[in-house]
Amino acid sequence: MRIIDHHIVGSTANPHTAARLADVFDPNAGSVQAQVRLGTAADLERAVAAAQAAQPGWAANNPQRRARVMFAFKALVEAHVDELAHLLSSEHGKVLADARGDIQRGLDVIEFACGIPHVLKGEYTQGAGPGIDVYSMRQPLGIGAGITPFNFPAMIPMWMFGVAIACGNAFILKPSERDPSVPVRLAELMREAGAPEGILQVVHGDKEMVDAILDHPAIGAVSFVGSSDIAHYVYRRGVAAGKRVQAMGGAKNHGIVMPDADLDQVVNELSGAAFGSAGERCMALPVVVPVGAATAEALREKLVPAIAKLRIGISTDRDADYGPVVNAAHKARVEAWIQKGVDEGAELVVDGRGFTLQGHEAGFFIGPSLFDHVTPAMESYREEIFGPVLQMVRAADFEEALSLPSQHQYGNGVAIFTRNGHAAREFAARVNVGMVGINVPIPVPVAYHSFGGWKRSAFGDTNQHGMEGVKFWTKVKTITQRWPDGAPDGSNAFVIPTMG
Ligand code: NAD
Repeated sequence: MRIIDHHIVGSTANPHTAARLADVFDPNAGSVQAQVRLGTAADLERAVAAAQAAQPGWAANNPQRRARVMFAFKALVEAHVDELAHLLSSEHGKVLADARGDIQRGLDVIEFACGIPHVLKGEYTQGAGPGIDVYSMRQPLGIGAGITPFNFPAMIPMWMFGVAIACGNAFILKPSERDPSVPVRLAELMREAGAPEGILQVVHGDKEMVDAILDHPAIGAVSFVGSSDIAHYVYRRGVAAGKRVQAMGGAKNHGIVMPDADLDQVVNELSGAAFGSAGERCMALPVVVPVGAATAEALREKLVPAIAKLRIGISTDRDADYGPVVNAAHKARVEAWIQKGVDEGAELVVDGRGFTLQGHEAGFFIGPSLFDHVTPAMESYREEIFGPVLQMVRAADFEEALSLPSQHQYGNGVAIFTRNGHAAREFAARVNVGMVGINVPIPVPVAYHSFGGWKRSAFGDTNQHGMEGVKFWTKVKTITQRWPDGAPDGSNAFVIPTMG
């Protein structure tokens, strides 16, 4: 059996090979294809030692040199995109075109990181007082760590290490143990691009490794993306250990459909946003809220045939709309949520359970499901399902539609479909959610803006990538300087200095 190992270079300590192993599945076949080594605190120690040795030299490089490594890395990832997309799709199960999108959205952040010399320029005030100038600079934290989910094994690691490393930090990545191979390849390509050994390392593992990261005194900041309960735990434990922590959690994004929306367009957008990647996206749109009974009826009439046309296939099938979910446990979980919806009294219009793909009967496939008459009181509405399940919650008017995502425990993304500029503007201003799409179903901000939800979708104050990312991975130092030209000026040193 193939063993997927840590990527720790620059450490002379012996690897800890007695560690536990976890299965990595082939979701298309439903079988085990490899095992990943689950690391221990001793493995982390090796990674930290190598990072500590490498980081000061890396930070001492001028930012343009660090940017050059990012440029080279971007070119290498582009040259290897087919290999990476196949590897990603073979462990995650998302279709190849979607796997390419996963890599490209990560590369967008690397492109942003290529501009790091510009964004790291500090602030300067000449003459803040008599003969006094004030300037500030952003300095790296030292060692940063990232803990990432299974659903974007290329994009989310690049969100984090792209910015952290360009800012002058060393970075330790703990990717999901369910699809760990792409992060290792990315680390190898960073080495090839010229990143010194120890600057980007990958340690695999589960809770044991996460706890070791959260408790390690040499790690200054931790970025986490995953489910909300674990995000909250990571946030609390990391902050208690004195670290800077940003922890993004789960989601339940709503798509509001106003009566004036172009329903053909909405159905087209919804199909991709609800079922693409088998619904395993934190910016998926698993809840649709038609406004008014006529909108709900018309939408349902168009949605049912559109869902019937969706094509489920193995992840390398170029005609497939979506592939299997990540593993058998997740498949069982999604199917249990569907049963829960039925038990709670929602109308299951399309039932995706029991779907099998000919020739791939053991694969982790789930057909698309559609619920109507879902209500806010239902647990299947309040919690994240993270599968190919679309829930329709009917709203009587705009105010009710606005209140649904606003009052939901999650606040990652939301979309409104309308031709009415005033309604859209009002919605965007008032909705209690972090990322808003206006006729855009998956409003993932571009790399030079920042990604982050509200409420239980994110713990901590700073978003991912863009200037928020730069702020997260650096600390500000402010220097107040005076170059006296002669005799003491006679000011009273016992009084708080003022510039007056
Ligand atoms: P997960 O929470 O199971 O795992 C995320 C990370 O936490 C992994 O690296 C995992 O090894 C680690 N982990 C798992 N159990 C742990 C424990 N008990 N203690 C400490 N660490 C633990 O999430 P997942 O299933 O890999 O990913 C899907 C979730 O991530 C969904 O909830 C999705 O909405 C969310 N997500 C959020 C965003 C966002 O930006 N808000 C983006 C992508 C995914």
